[in-house]
Amino acid sequence: MNIPQVSPWLDHEEIEAVSQVIASGWITEGAYAAKFSAQLNDFIGTPYGVFAPNGTLALYLGLAALNIGPGDEVLVPDITFIASANAVILAGAIPVFVEVNRQNYQLDVTQCHHLITEKTRAIMPVHLYGMTVNMEQIMAFAQQYNLIVIEDAAQAIGVKYRGQHAGTFGDVGCFSFFADKTLTTGEGGYVVCHNQEIHEKLLLLRNQGRLDRGSFIHPAIGYNFRLTDIQAAIGLVQLNKIKVIIERKQTILNWYRRELSSIPHVHFLTVENGSDYIPFRTILLCENADHLMAYLKKQGVVVRTFFYPLHRQPCFAYLGRDRGGTLDLSDANYPNAVFGFEHGVSLPIFPTLTEEQVCFICASIKDFYTAITS
Ligand SMILES: *Cc1c(COP(=O)(O)O)cnc(C)c1O
Repeated sequence: MNIPQVSPWLDHEEIEAVSQVIASGWITEGAYAAKFSAQLNDFIGTPYGVFAPNGTLALYLGLAALNIGPGDEVLVPDITFIASANAVILAGAIPVFVEVNRQNYQLDVTQCHHLITEKTRAIMPVHLYGMTVNMEQIMAFAQQYNLIVIEDAAQAIGVKYRGQHAGTFGDVGCFSFFADKTLTTGEGGYVVCHNQEIHEKLLLLRNQGRLDRGSFIHPAIGYNFRLTDIQAAIGLVQLNKIKVIIERKQTILNWYRRELSSIPHVHFLTVENGSDYIPFRTILLCENADHLMAYLKKQGVVVRTFFYPLHRQPCFAYLGRDRGGTLDLSDANYPNAVFGFEHGVSLPIFPTLTEEQVCFICASIKDFYTAITS
């Protein structure tokens, strides 16, 4: 067996769409992007949305449009892909790492209060692994401390909290269309908002400080955050089949649940109350996780750990008190994040994964635990 961790679901439809764009003679952002944007807004349920070249720059664009910069602190969960925090640094602000909960390893606002300073400007809930954060708690917390909310919904296209799409609760919400995300254009990002002024700021920032492409007069400073129509054409096809992609992922998760239900050594994440679950990865909490992953690797199954807790990242050590920063980055402050990292295992999930492959992976897991417990 040779089972990858993820694999995008592309076929002749995407190839045809890309060929059409190339034949049209207009390959950068144009009519396909406009159509993709309109359909995305419809799908997400947002009045405004703009593209970015990738999810990292979508987060940066959102932060910049909200005037978050030098001197500001942004609360970021300790368990997330590092891009969440890097975007804050790119904007010139400081990420402050927040402990996660023990049920599904998402940002826990009940453990945030002591991290608030006079510099805290924003909170970045990250909808991790295919479910949302408890947005009711986040919004109440943000209101209490007058914080801007920027949602990292990079892994959450299609995922709703109490019927409302992830990314539409905060001041801005950011998506990624990277190759391993639920909907992909290879690379790509999207920023949504519901405020017209913020939308205008996003438009200026992403198009060299002007609203009109044909003019060389620039009222503001901005940059280039375009997507190409080649990518937008892929996105349109992907969006057209997103219901099938979502159903496939949920079916596959149910196969995993069925096959692993009798194994007491592994546990699935508890889905946040009120949230959908469209698994971004198949996440398990496992006893003996390191040895299990080594065993699965030997069986030809590509596995991953949890994201590495941000408080442990070598590149962020300078934010710690012992290096002149203000944060106490010791493990003792992040026991849940550490537990998640030490026990979390990410198993393959992607639309073309077969039931036979899932059964093989689960049989291997059973074999592993039988061998070590007998
Ligand atoms: C993928 C991802 C990003 C970054 O998106 P890119 O398109 O890879 O730049 C940010 N945050 C999270 C949670 C992600 O999963």
